[in-house]
Parts: sequence; structure tokens; C-alpha cells
Amino acid sequence: MATHCRFCNSQLEHVVVDLGLSPVSNRFRDMPSADHEGQMFYPLKVMVCDTCWLVQLTDVTTPPHFDENYAYFSSFSVSWLAHAKRYADMMQEKLNLGPDALVVEVASNDGYLLQYFKKAGIKVLGIEPSANVAAHAKEQHGIESIVDFFGENLGKSLREKGVSANLIAGNNVLAHVPDINDFIAGIELILAPDGTVTFEFPHLLQMLTLGQFDTIYHEHYSYLSLLTVEKVLNAHGLSVYGVEELPTHGGSLRVFAKHTNSDVQDNTLAKQLEKVRRDEATARLNSHAGYSAFAARPAQCKADLLAFLIEARKQGKTVCGYGAPAKGNTMLDYCGIGPELLPFTTDLSPQKQGKFLPGANIPVHDPSVITETRPDYILILPWNLRDEIEAQLKDARDWGGKFVVAVPELEIF
Ligand SMILES: [Zn+2]
Repeated sequence: MATHCRFCNSQLEHVVVDLGLSPVSNRFRDMPSADHEGQMFYPLKVMVCDTCWLVQLTDVTTPPHFDENYAYFSSFSVSWLAHAKRYADMMQEKLNLGPDALVVEVASNDGYLLQYFKKAGIKVLGIEPSANVAAHAKEQHGIESIVDFFGENLGKSLREKGVSANLIAGNNVLAHVPDINDFIAGIELILAPDGTVTFEFPHLLQMLTLGQFDTIYHEHYSYLSLLTVEKVLNAHGLSVYGVEELPTHGGSLRVFAKHTNSDVQDNTLAKQLEKVRRDEATARLNSHAGYSAFAARPAQCKADLLAFLIEARKQGKTVCGYGAPAKGNTMLDYCGIGPELLPFTTDLSPQKQGKFLPGANIPVHDPSVITETRPDYILILPWNLRDEIEAQLKDARDWGGKFVVAVPELEIF
């Protein structure tokens, strides 16, 4: 069956990487599957469009990704909250947002970001598909959310109700949207004439350069370059006027966009925009040359990580995981690692504790289990938070514990 590009509808011909079959990564399980029932695995294959260079997951029929039972609470990461606060402070200053301004966040989660605008006396509105997460935003921060998926239809109805946002924050949502055209069409409808919309997404250039294949999972439909994001926005009457490079998620871009006919500008951001355009041109992201080397990276990572875990086991050393992010599930499934090599992992989120990772069947415990069991090695699955986690677990040094990451390459420290 031919697959067509999510943005420009051209037929997709070129595979960037094929990770085989994988379970849907946020389906944490109540018990190991072998004890009770089987579980479904789905293709995890990424292709690139020859026309617009959108790197994308091929269409597969998976169960709906959105699941009320799985609620992701952003506020559990300390560094993520700090990141959100810095963003809120910067945008207030850059856009001169006062009490009459309206800030809308799409995929507003538990209000982790909007709380900072609200505290500054600015009007806020969240859009969040999960009712229980939206309820949390209301209880904890007094933030109103519309419980729905965002797209052109919701954009239309909000606009009819007079919603006109001076700032729209789409932080880490663009890559997760199945229909990117419908989503951006909705954004254009609720953006004020001189408003700014920002999107943050893991930068495809970093994924390709640093071999971050574990950022590929079923909920993550698009792997975005500036090159392609500019094409998508332009097609909907929006234009990028600035960019920032961020360290989050192993290297992200924050793009600043406006209506194409608006004269909003920012000289500092415009300079960085030119720099990232040059970087992507140098990496040849507008030709197959930019994508062809990536396919070899996962196999190298798998060989190195398995060799480490097998050697540790032979030497009678103990290893545990830290974190239960989606990227960890991709990594462990692709590498074929189960509890025989990684007996447990841990996560700060109470929603994940007591569950089992999909596919790998590895139990998830409270991080206090690490100090109780004193493992020789702690494999950090969310390698993008390695510094934060190393600092949190600094006591592990007292018993000679070492940390391990597998991306961009195996490192023991
Ligand atoms: Zn395309």
C-alpha cells in the first residue's frame, strides 16, 4: 500500500530507518503480558518525502493513542518547569504582554506553563484533550481549559467566540499531531493580527547527527526540520520570523511565527533563523544525502548496549533503569532488552509506578528503590535529562554506583 506525505500528499518512496515492530509506547501494563494476555506490536518505520522533505512515521493502524488512563503530568520534571518559566518571562518581555493580552497554549497539560502567565496577571486559555489532566490545571492553578483536540474546527469555533491570541504556545505538540495541515489551519484562525505563535520540537538535524533513533515512537508522527516547518506554515498564511536553538529533548528548535502579512520582527531571532537555515543546508537536508547515514545508527547502539548489559551480568554486577519515557520503550524494544538484563526501572510519576513497560515487561518502581538496592549501574533512559538525574542520584557515588547512557553513544560515567 502506497503511503502519502502527511503534508503535501506526494507518494513516499524513501525509508530513513525501519525499527521493526514495537508496541504503542505509552501503554503501560498492569501486569507482565506473559502472565495474562498477549500484546500488539506495530510497524515503526520512518520515511522522508522527496517533495517537501517532511520526515514522518508511515501510517499504521494502531489503537487510538490518546488514553484517559494514561495521563502525562508535565509538572513532574523540575528542569521542564524551569524551562517553562524562562519561556514565560521571555515572551512577556519580548511581546510586551499586559493584562489585556491573551495567551493560549495548545496541549496545555496540567497548566505547567500557563501558570506563570496567569501569575503575571495575563489572561490565559488552555486546550487539552485529557479531561483529568485539564481538571488538575483548574484545581492546582485555576486555569480554564477547553477539553478537546485542536484543529481547524475548534479554531473556527473559538474564533467565532472572539478568541484572538497575542501569543499561542505550541510547545512539544507539533511533532505529535497526525494531521499537521488541519492543526496549523486552526492556529492561523485564532492568532491575533500581530500575534506570535511559537512551536518547540526536537530538531531533526540533532536526531540525524546524534543518532537519536529512540525519539521515534508511534505518538510522534513528524520529525521536523526548520526547512519543512517553514513550508508547512507558509502554506497556511504564516511565516517564521525567528528561531532559537534549545538544549531540551537532546536539541530542540523554538520557531517564532506570525501572519505572513504582519510586520512583527526581531533582529536577534532573525540572525539565529539564518544560522539554522545555513546549518540545515550544510547538512543537505534538502536532498537524500542528509538522511542516508542515519539507518546505521540504531544497530550500532543496540550492539554496544547489549554488549555492556551482557558483560555486566557475567561479572555479577547489578543494573537498573532510571525513567520510563516513551524513548526508553523504543530503545528497550528495539534492542530486545527485558527484565533478564534490566530487572527494573524507576520513575517519579506515580501514574507509572507499579506498572510494566509495554513490550519489555520491565517493572517500574519508585526511585527510592535505587537507594535501597544500590545497583552498580543506573541506565538513564531519558538521556536528555542526564545532568538533572545524575544530580538527583548523587548519593549513588557513595556506593560506587555509575551512570550509563546509550545515546548518542554508550557512555559510562
Ligand atoms: Zn511532502
